[in-house]
Amino acid sequence: MSISENLNKVRATLPSSVKLIAVSKTKPNSAILEAYNSGQRLFGENKVQELIEKYESLPKDIEWHLIGHLQTNKVKYMASFVAMIHAVDSLKLLAEINKEASKHNRIINCLLQFHIAKEETKFGLDFESACEILDSSDFRDMKNVHISGVMGMATYTDNTEQVSSEFSSLRNIFTKLKSMYFANDPTFSEISMGMSDDYLIAIEQGATMVRVGSSIFGERVYQQY
Ligand SMILES: *Cc1c(COP(=O)(O)O)cnc(C)c1O
Repeated sequence: MSISENLNKVRATLPSSVKLIAVSKTKPNSAILEAYNSGQRLFGENKVQELIEKYESLPKDIEWHLIGHLQTNKVKYMASFVAMIHAVDSLKLLAEINKEASKHNRIINCLLQFHIAKEETKFGLDFESACEILDSSDFRDMKNVHISGVMGMATYTDNTEQVSSEFSSLRNIFTKLKSMYFANDPTFSEISMGMSDDYLIAIEQGATMVRVGSSIFGERVYQQY
């Protein structure tokens, strides 16, 4: 099946309120353009260098989402254009995003990444450390970042009950943070969860954004460096 056929198949399964981030990491510009020409405008990348190269050569009305782990020293390279940073997991990173966004007179939308999986390798905050960030005066002084919601990745397993309960725990975190910190902020509204293998479960559990790559673009082939 072609990319546009895959895309339409995925779209057909999404409620209209759920945003689709087409995860194009490792895929060439031609693949992204095929999706673009079928109307897709939200794309996700997990490496800053790749994100920049694609941003520079592709249509400027694409909304670029950085979905992967981000090192503070890379923020400056994309602060002028990135639409949303999905994987914020420290106050230090948030401070750096704020600093670089202010140089461009922008407010960058960020999601707090939570560790919801059983696996140890996945990045992310726990509830208490997120509260520490949100309670800090450093955070309250930041004028150039906006927390739009939360993000998480479930354990890579075919145990759907486990995946479902991990997504449900992220939704609970969202609801708690909303009532504690963002009760008067309707723009704290996003729950980014679900990938090709589990996005339907994520939607059942309240996802507002799903990040789907291989179901649209085909399997990825990684180069060895
Ligand atoms: C690669 C990636 C995805 C998409 O994965 P697929 O299984 O190809 O859909 C989603 N989220 C993050 C954070 C990723 O790194």
